Amino acid sequence: MKKLFFLLLLFLSACQTATPTNKITFENTLTDGQLAYGHINPNNKLFIASAERRVGEKQGSFQIPTKEGDFAIGIPQDATNLKLTLQTETGSETFDFPVQKRKWKEDIVNGLPPKKVIPPQEEQKRILEEILLMREKRKTSNYPTFAHKWTLPVAEYSRISSPFGARRILNGAITQGHSGTDYAAPEGTPVLAAADGKVALIHPDMFYTGGTILIDHGYGIYTNYCHLSRIDVKEGQIVKAGEPIAAVGSTGRATGPHLHFGLSWYGVRLNPEDLF
Ligand SMILES: [Zn+2]
Repeated sequence: MKKLFFLLLLFLSACQTATPTNKITFENTLTDGQLAYGHINPNNKLFIASAERRVGEKQGSFQIPTKEGDFAIGIPQDATNLKLTLQTETGSETFDFPVQKRKWKEDIVNGLPPKKVIPPQEEQKRILEEILLMREKRKTSNYPTFAHKWTLPVAEYSRISSPFGARRILNGAITQGHSGTDYAAPEGTPVLAAADGKVALIHPDMFYTGGTILIDHGYGIYTNYCHLSRIDVKEGQIVKAGEPIAAVGSTGRATGPHLHFGLSWYGVRLNPEDLF
């Protein structure tokens, strides 16, 4: 009887070694608003099967780029499920991954004059052009490095003045969650590249974000740095993690000096605080 049990165990373990190549593994429990890292067999291909929401700048199913089987994926804020399809030599299989939903900060602001909520008419065209420019740049991630180790973009800051995902309820209307993390720091504080990458865009003065830098970290991962008082890099420049690239300011729509630091994956806005 014991021998039979042993043989059964042996058989089961043999079965198991035949299958692990055809699976998707993640480093952490999946939560909404997270940049998740995972792994597949490098011979296989990975696709987004469907998403509850539009996945950034890509709609519906698309292939997720991998590096030696490693991949990154951005899980939208408020998502509760992730559907991924693995394509192997013998066929394809779709997997469901439950996503833990986080509680994001909400601020209720009432009695604001509508003029403060809606930007002036004469600025609308410029605002739209700037949004489209950023969107276009975020589609063409082509830096070869797979960003996995991250550095704080400000070595010294006094506090996080506004966390990622915070929603302001202005005069009863819910606004989109805060697209990044605000680090309050004195004007002129050095701003550092959060990981190796290539400068995809610099802009001296955008309507909302003022002096702005967008860095491509490869595989769809981008970071952006806003309200800068000074920009010390050029478009196309290769930067290393921790390298000074700019200085903290309060340009654009900012009430005081701070760094707005954003993280995204093909345009899906993610929580940068998860990186550190
Ligand atoms: Zn901000």
